[in-house]
Amino acid sequence: MSENNSNTLRIAVVGAGPAGVYSSDIFLRELKKQGESLGLPTKARIDLFEKLPVPFGLVRYGVAPDHPAIKFIADALEKTLDNPDIHLYCDVEFGRDLTLDDLMPRYDAVLFATGAVADRPLTIAGADLDGVYGAARFVEWYDGYPTGARTWPLDAQKVAVIGGGNVAMDVSRELMRNADDLKARTDIPDNVYEGIKGNKARELHLFIRRGVAQAKFSVQELRELEKLPGVQIILNEDDFDLDDATVEQAGKDKLTRQMVEELYAIRDMAEDMEDDGGVDFEGNPAPKKYYMHFNSAPTEVLGKDGKVVGLHVEHTETGADGVMRHTGEFTDYPVEAVYHAIGYKPASVPGVAYDEQRDVLANEEGRILAEPALTAETGKSTVRPRLYATGWAKRGPVGLIGSTKSDALLIVGNMLDDLSKAEDADGSGKGCIAADRDPESIDRLLASRGVKPIDFAGWKKVDTYERAEGAKEGREHKKVIDPDQMRALALG
Ligand SMILES: Cc1cc2nc3c(=O)[nH]c(=O)nc-3n(C[C@H](O)[C@H](O)[C@H](O)COP(=O)(O)OP(=O)(O)OC[C@H]3O[C@@H](n4cnc5c(N)ncnc54)[C@H](O)[C@@H]3O)c2cc1C
Repeated sequence: MSENNSNTLRIAVVGAGPAGVYSSDIFLRELKKQGESLGLPTKARIDLFEKLPVPFGLVRYGVAPDHPAIKFIADALEKTLDNPDIHLYCDVEFGRDLTLDDLMPRYDAVLFATGAVADRPLTIAGADLDGVYGAARFVEWYDGYPTGARTWPLDAQKVAVIGGGNVAMDVSRELMRNADDLKARTDIPDNVYEGIKGNKARELHLFIRRGVAQAKFSVQELRELEKLPGVQIILNEDDFDLDDATVEQAGKDKLTRQMVEELYAIRDMAEDMEDDGGVDFEGNPAPKKYYMHFNSAPTEVLGKDGKVVGLHVEHTETGADGVMRHTGEFTDYPVEAVYHAIGYKPASVPGVAYDEQRDVLANEEGRILAEPALTAETGKSTVRPRLYATGWAKRGPVGLIGSTKSDALLIVGNMLDDLSKAEDADGSGKGCIAADRDPESIDRLLASRGVKPIDFAGWKKVDTYERAEGAKEGREHKKVIDPDQMRALALG
């Protein structure tokens, strides 16, 4: 056993998205601060397992490429990972390459930060027609997800997007984007540039089920909508006719108030665009029309010969209480494609119970439960010792990247508390529960299974190549999308 093994906690984190990366960092910092007073070692070795060949989860493969803060966030995550106590194992999938039986004897605690990748399904009639797309798959395409589609059908001239949150905003914006503008500002790969260049969409209808005061857009997303070259925004005046109670209710929450104020600014902007003869934000002709329909709940995708030809939409009303009411008034919109952005679904993890009702790994404040049984009938579920969840795996698919930091603080606090109460197996030190304390044991196990992990140095090789390829075109970065190319770069 090397000296590294005595008095060093051993923690496995599964998932190198923002939740996994921030939790690793926060664990090390908090342990240094609190370890001594808790009777724990002050050092830990964290092994961070990621199924993709590269780290950063939805920061690389979810956040829209033209999002201004994305470079800053990715750089911050990378700096955090550049820590000798965090060992990155990319291209290692929990459930395929490793199981709980492998991890439990080798780690004092295991933290799942496995996030979310799939769409929550659209359940209205016609959802299976050709031309209905989940936002997650489209996002994978434009963000170059390693196993995502490499071509995307962008033949529809009129498209609908369903959803009242930031992902619906992102999808709508990318569907209205000018390809050259996008290429100049972002790291999009060539196939995405070519796809968007050929995009035939000229009319986009965004449907939001509830009212202006109940949408879930962030102000930042709305500001990006305001700056789309060649796009006229069109709104329905009536949607902005809010009653006093609704205005008062919206004013109680700072973020909601700011969003509503921004939407009113967009309404004024849309009025000017219309008055000036259908122009974009800079007063230039706008061949693309972007309609925002609040109080509009799609009830059926209309089809002909198996293909989308329209969307049947009910007009709704939502009062200050936030409850949506049906009106029985419908409008049909002729569209040839429908994108739904109605939520992501967190990944399930082999060996861990999934709470289908809350769409999370079954947990209580991040402590993994034996089953999702917190109901009056079934009573309190049992906590499974040494297993934790954080980020979207713990809270469900809501919240921005910043929320993963507050989650991490809570979970790390719980982990340290639990570890400080745990007896060590063989006198290795308090909290040192795992019997196999040889840090190289996991490497031998993976090697015996033919798994070739990509470490931080390997990721840096991919990153250096991406920067060099970008520089050739006067861009900061250009994404590699082929997983085999990533492996060759990282391991070569
Ligand atoms: C389309 C979209 C756009 C967004 N835009 C923004 C934005 O502009 N700004 C913002 O602040 N937030 C944005 N968000 C939210 C943000 O992405 C999330 O808050 C954040 O990514 C959640 O972090 P996470 O680490 O929990 O999950 P994820 O980012 O999903 O990371 C989970 C990681 O776990 C890995 N993993 C999963 N299963 C396994 C396994 N079995 N073995 C090993 N590894 C595994 C995954 O590959 C992934 O890398 C957006 C989200 C989406 C979906």
